[in-house]
Amino acid sequence: MRSLRNSELIDLWEWGQNKPSLQQALIILSAAYPDMTLEDLTGLTMGERDSMLLRLRESIFGHRVLGLASCPNCGEKMELSFDVADILDRDLNICQRVEPLMIEEFKVFFRLPTIFDLMQSNAQDVPTMRRQLLQCCISRAEKDGREYDANLLSEAVLEAVVDQMGKADPHGDLQIDISCPLCHQENQLPFDIVSFLWIEIDTWARRLLEEVHILASAYGWSEGEILAMSSMRRQIYLNLVAQ
Ligand SMILES: [Zn+2]
Repeated sequence: MRSLRNSELIDLWEWGQNKPSLQQALIILSAAYPDMTLEDLTGLTMGERDSMLLRLRESIFGHRVLGLASCPNCGEKMELSFDVADILDRDLNICQRVEPLMIEEFKVFFRLPTIFDLMQSNAQDVPTMRRQLLQCCISRAEKDGREYDANLLSEAVLEAVVDQMGKADPHGDLQIDISCPLCHQENQLPFDIVSFLWIEIDTWARRLLEEVHILASAYGWSEGEILAMSSMRRQIYLNLVAQ
């Protein structure tokens, strides 16, 4: 992973405006991992992609994550505050080739879903997406040693496959533990790193462009010159302009 310059981050922010989140994630990662081809990036599992995004987020905005969430029980606004290390297991090695699952009298051969699978899906809802992903990831099913039509597998068997996929790729479903200050319910909330990081980049980019506007108006410097400055130096000039 390489760190991104201010101007590069502004470029990718502009390029990714109003794009679907799967594409925004690819835009960010292809800038930070220039050695990886589009095929490499779309071949990642959700968990592999999200751990790379978490590392990148840490290098841009630091290890502390702050945000807001609503309590699913009472609707109270809750402050999210956690460390990247709380949800990122850096020692985790994801192996995309998983062992076949033995359940009841069945043996199910499957692989983990990739970003490419998600991009191929035209599903509008979660159940359809789940069905499509299972269809493309289950390569073979056997019953009592003989091939069995995977389309006929029961819901319980499919659920066990989904469960096994989740265990093999734990970063694919990041969860934050948070207790509600009002109703005291212990919540486990999903953490969507792509949309979270995109909002952070968006807020950062808009503020930085405002600073460019102020300094360019005051000193006549170009956008490139101002973006290339360190944040400290920019702040000193902004303070002088405000005096
Ligand atoms: Zn609550």
